[in-house]
Amino acid sequence: MTDQVIPYNKPFIAGKELFYIAQAVINGNIAGDGHFTRKCAELLQTRFGIHKVLMTPSCTASLEMAALLCDLKPGDEVIMPSFTFVSTASAVARIGAIPRFVDINPETLNLDERLIPAAINERTRAIWPVHYAGVSCEMDPILATANRHGLAVVEDAAQGVNSFYKGRALGSIGALGTYSFHETKNFICGEGGALCINDPKMVERAEILRDKGTNRKQFLRGQVDKYTWVDVGSSYVPSEICSAFLYAQLEMSEHITQRRRELHEYYEERLSPLMADGLLRLPICPRNCTPNYHIFYLLLPTEGARNELLDNLRRNGIMAVFHYIPLHDSPVGQTYGYRPGDLPVTEDISRRLIRLPLYYTMTEESQARVVAQVESCLRGLGVRFNRNLAA
Ligand SMILES: *Cc1c(COP(=O)(O)O)cnc(C)c1O
Repeated sequence: MTDQVIPYNKPFIAGKELFYIAQAVINGNIAGDGHFTRKCAELLQTRFGIHKVLMTPSCTASLEMAALLCDLKPGDEVIMPSFTFVSTASAVARIGAIPRFVDINPETLNLDERLIPAAINERTRAIWPVHYAGVSCEMDPILATANRHGLAVVEDAAQGVNSFYKGRALGSIGALGTYSFHETKNFICGEGGALCINDPKMVERAEILRDKGTNRKQFLRGQVDKYTWVDVGSSYVPSEICSAFLYAQLEMSEHITQRRRELHEYYEERLSPLMADGLLRLPICPRNCTPNYHIFYLLLPTEGARNELLDNLRRNGIMAVFHYIPLHDSPVGQTYGYRPGDLPVTEDISRRLIRLPLYYTMTEESQARVVAQVESCLRGLGVRFNRNLAA
């Protein structure tokens, strides 16, 4: 009997990371915007059809830049899901704007585009959809609503690098998009991110915000004769060391996605009999979306069954995890006047969701062990979806 612990995630090393870092060191440039930072940005621009990519130290930094580029003022509202990572909301809140939380679609767990129009008022400035698990939001209706009301769309594509909606890369669809290369994502460099700029009018200010509020970029291009302080900003440039690591990963992104797809399909195939028996629900990916297989989650019929399964797996050395605690119900969310019960789908889903281990080097033996443990636990519990409700 194998008792080895199966972690939730294991950072994957594609191969050339240390070689590229050595090259950066030998090149004599390890601060920002050297050879590898440029190579990463160019690769993302070309492969994903993005007008301009600026590499950043994190997706959080990219979201903070996006809040400034949307020109948010105190009291302005931004429509977003509550079922997301805290950075989506904190990037807006830190400059005094207000996250306006909207419920999610129970099938995709993404911002429910049908609920957006009713959340728009005279203070609304932007819509920030989040592509959960690397599965695309319904971008066409979101863009149509945004255009009708003159709102900026910022895609939080932290989990959506190398995912597509109707053939368009996530991050390339809104005026802005944000990527994460955090260790827990599909393509990694420890901590890292990118800002995707699809509205050419935003490029110049984005470069200034990223470079401490200076026009240094214009100076380096010879467009101005001295460089000086021209706007707010921060230090949003990543180190060449991180970019060198990341470039090795991005070169392998198709290969990494293919492996994650195999792992995903294995789970899907082996667990579908349990879905047929009403014991769980598998992830749903709409036909118009090509995912990157970032997360494999299960929805259980009840919160009790979810907690039992989580405990059972952990007792057996399988480090499955739950996911977002809804933001509207958090201590900060409550200061905006939200109360439990305001977003029923978000609250229900967050209590019934569990994420299974999924990482590049996961063996078939480990996956088989996870499947067997899920199966024995759920068959033992025998808690089923009410078929009438589940239909
Ligand atoms: C991971 C994640 C972030 C934050 O990314 P960092 O690079 O760690 O700042 C933001 N939004 C979502 C949806 C995420 O999954």
